[in-house]
Amino acid sequence: MQQQTGNATQAIDAVALSAWVREFARLIAENRDHLNELDSANGDADHGSNLDRGMAAVLDTLDGEERALPAALLKDVGVTLVDEVGGSSGALYGTIFLRLSGAVGGAETVDDALLAQAFRAAADGVAYRGSVKTGDKTMYDALAPAVDALDNALRAGRSRRCAWEDAARAAEAGRDGTIQMQARKGKSSYVGEKSAGSQDPGATSLALLIRAAASKLD
Ligand code: ADP
Ligand code: MG
Repeated sequence: MQQQTGNATQAIDAVALSAWVREFARLIAENRDHLNELDSANGDADHGSNLDRGMAAVLDTLDGEERALPAALLKDVGVTLVDEVGGSSGALYGTIFLRLSGAVGGAETVDDALLAQAFRAAADGVAYRGSVKTGDKTMYDALAPAVDALDNALRAGRSRRCAWEDAARAAEAGRDGTIQMQARKGKSSYVGEKSAGSQDPGATSLALLIRAAASKLD
């Protein structure tokens, strides 16, 4: 993809992050039934409903109060998800946003390098909290390659827009890669070998999280 430098220096503030979170909520609502259907293959068919309920609560939280600091916004998203979602995905999506919040610290705006670092911390948080690694057929299989792609693209001097596009494509490739995997974590692991052949719902929603960033954090 062509290099673009036009808006690469524009700082990412709480307003931009909130636009990303709102876009994620929109994509989750749009894909709710599909995510439930994917979760019905090996799980309990609730992944879309879980996240949609959580993101609706997140939207209420965002509408209620304006936050000046990225860390405050990200923390409130994480806490709301943990409180509202329940189940494994609530704790893990909560971890993602809480780790992002912790990593950006007190900064009023977040530059690309800091955000990439924060996403690395979020992926490490999922690995730790879920005690999961690559190939276990979870959201981590979409998140880890997205973080690597983001890092690599920024290190190679690509623009923010291109770097997030790379990350979104890597997340989508990771999501597709879960089809042939056998689940080793979460409810899907209970069905053993039979879990191979279907796309992991958490990897699917995670790819939407990164796609939302690619469309709003540019
Ligand atoms: P539950 O499994 O409690 O019904 P959801 O259906 O909302 O929760 O979410 C299921 C998704 O959560 C899975 O598709 C998987 O991606 C993710 N997941 C489950 N357990 C783990 C884990 N230990 N580590 C990382 N991700 C996990
Ligand atoms: Mg489920």
